Amino acid sequence: MTSPIWHPFTQHGLQPIMTHIDRAEGSYLYRSDGQRIFDGISSWWVVTHGHCHPQLVAAAQEQAGKLDQVIFAGHTHGPAERLAAQLVALAPPGLDKVFYSDSGSTAVEVAVKMALGYWYHQGEPQRQKLIVLEHGYHGDTIGTMSIGERGVFNQAYSPLLFDVLSIPFPAPGQEEASLQALHDHLSAHPDQIAALIVEPLVLGAGGMFMYGPETLAAYHKICTDHNVVFIADEVMTGWGRTGTLFACEQAGIAPDILCTSKGLTGGLIPLAATLCQNRFFDAHYSQDRAKMFFHSSSYTANPIACAVGDANCQIWQDEPVRDRLQALTHMQAQHLKALATQEGFSNPRQQGTITAIDITVPDQGYLSEIAPKLYHYFQSHGLLLRPLGNSVYVMPPYSTTQDDLDFLYNVLSNAPNIL
Ligand SMILES: *Cc1c(COP(=O)(O)O)cnc(C)c1O
Repeated sequence: MTSPIWHPFTQHGLQPIMTHIDRAEGSYLYRSDGQRIFDGISSWWVVTHGHCHPQLVAAAQEQAGKLDQVIFAGHTHGPAERLAAQLVALAPPGLDKVFYSDSGSTAVEVAVKMALGYWYHQGEPQRQKLIVLEHGYHGDTIGTMSIGERGVFNQAYSPLLFDVLSIPFPAPGQEEASLQALHDHLSAHPDQIAALIVEPLVLGAGGMFMYGPETLAAYHKICTDHNVVFIADEVMTGWGRTGTLFACEQAGIAPDILCTSKGLTGGLIPLAATLCQNRFFDAHYSQDRAKMFFHSSSYTANPIACAVGDANCQIWQDEPVRDRLQALTHMQAQHLKALATQEGFSNPRQQGTITAIDITVPDQGYLSEIAPKLYHYFQSHGLLLRPLGNSVYVMPPYSTTQDDLDFLYNVLSNAPNIL
């Protein structure tokens, strides 16, 4: 029987059959036939503490029976208030306002609208240009595609995408060129730049490219010196992936605006938040209704999602999450080191709990023939890994054990032999 479902980022012509999952627990997904699959990519980077963490499940169940949903314009509720207070306390200093939405893309759209609205209401409406990082990814809506890397993913929609200024990725040894490019854009367009948006330390969907905290700090300093809004898209890097709760902590910086989603609810339910400094709120504060922040989605600050987010913050306080991150980071480093010495692998890289390595092939890039072959090889071994072109990355939940990783890297080390 054919399904009416059109799946995301899936070529149905090549992959007609979907893997049917019945349940999940900890670091594993369970198929209908009972076979288990190790979730090596945290189900698209969202699951942090492991699947179906009992406290998160309980929070969702309890809240669902009490207050399911309420319009968030003109209304508020306990879960949203409690979560906002926790977020302000956990985030880098100065991020004192919280705007809720439902996904990473919307968190980024909100950030961009906050920055542009800020300049507009400050009487600098000419500040409209955005600067972005090469290989960046911020989502799949028209706005977030516009500020992301252009390529096969968005070619069909290019007539609708708006122009941005781009700076080169700060690959090792090329940091100065990237910083210089930022300087050059700022001098070439005085008083026209609204904001710089970056994924801190790790550029995820663009290819798991990694750069150092010194460069991140330098971007932030340049923006501050030039009075340009600094937006950190921590949708993927947040909630421990890079070893600290937020990646910006490692650079000792507090962004002007921070986007968070994926791990915000531990991966249990969709929710996003855009945190900003008071000045963005203040710029929209008025007795004039024409100056309000014109943004919402129907489910903004859904109580069930907020209750789960609140429970997630509680887990970060009650459980030794940071110790787990440290242990996972260490185990990942050991395995990556061993793998890097093997034939067929190159460019090993790691940032906290995330590792990535390239498999040597003649055709590189996202559409590399190797990616689907690898995907099926991993699946047939009970492993969920989804290579970006010829780059394989491992981003497991924090419930992952040494045995799990032994198994994963054993399968991975054999990957070049299947080609
Ligand atoms: C995943 C991701 C997004 C988009 O999030 P969605 O929830 O898929 O809309 C935005 N930015 C970054 C850095 C991401 O990794």
